[in-house]
Amino acid sequence: MRYSLTILIGFCLLISCTQKKEANEKPHVVATTGMLYDAVLNIGQDKVTAEAIMGPGVDPHLYKATQGDLAKFNKADLIVFNGILLEGKMSDILTKLGRQKPVVAAAESIPKSMLKSAVGYEDAFDPHVWFDVKRWKYVVQSINDALVQLDSANQEFFDRNTENYLKKLDSLDTYVKELIAEIPEDQRILVTAHDAFVYFGNAYGMRVEGLQGISTVADFGLKDIAEIIDLIIENNIKAIFIETSVSEKSINAVVTGCKEKGHDVKIGGALYSDAMGEFGTKEGTYIGMFKKNVETIVEALK
Ligand code: ZN
Repeated sequence: MRYSLTILIGFCLLISCTQKKEANEKPHVVATTGMLYDAVLNIGQDKVTAEAIMGPGVDPHLYKATQGDLAKFNKADLIVFNGILLEGKMSDILTKLGRQKPVVAAAESIPKSMLKSAVGYEDAFDPHVWFDVKRWKYVVQSINDALVQLDSANQEFFDRNTENYLKKLDSLDTYVKELIAEIPEDQRILVTAHDAFVYFGNAYGMRVEGLQGISTVADFGLKDIAEIIDLIIENNIKAIFIETSVSEKSINAVVTGCKEKGHDVKIGGALYSDAMGEFGTKEGTYIGMFKKNVETIVEALK
């Protein structure tokens, strides 16, 4: 009797496993930002399904998960987020989900020695790691590792895609360096709405000044504006930049302030800082978005 019961239970388990696999054949990955989502697509290709929580123009520092997002998280086999407190308002929910399913803070795979501390925050690091290709490659690798863990049968496929994608990232890195070299050395100063470009400046040799600091949670002050205006006038900077996911208010105040002091500074364009362009367009991919940013910067400052 006991023997046949064991067989029966074993049989039921087998059935339920098979059914589960059929109902959800490909692993489903949910990424918080567009940049992470794009990396998942490049590695997983047709062997995964994926979706992003935050689309174009969405500020990850301020974003709170909606009921719809919670449903997406619940459906996911793997959740990929940036970490280093980028998604500050989603930390609790991501921690909770981490007890139920694989949840990966991809940017936290970068060695601590390569992270910059966040000015104004105790014991915190700058989360904007995607604007240095070298640092972003760690993120891509950690997504690969997570996918392999989830679906080891496709390891070779994921590894090969990752290798190819990392080569494309190396080409991007070279392209960015070549383009930045077109800006006269004394004009390599990047003024933006918030401090999203510290790693970019560090990697590609530009001084960066953000009006709002590392997170958009803290507001900018009049003192910051006055300092930036002086810097622009002293260095005869031609252009400064708004960002697609941040209010233009501070940058407009700087333009007006410069004008009042007799210096005409232009808005050089809108940069994709913490969010990419529309999915399905060139700027809706990491590589396309990065190129577009650098082209915008170089066009305005050279
Ligand atoms: Zn930011």
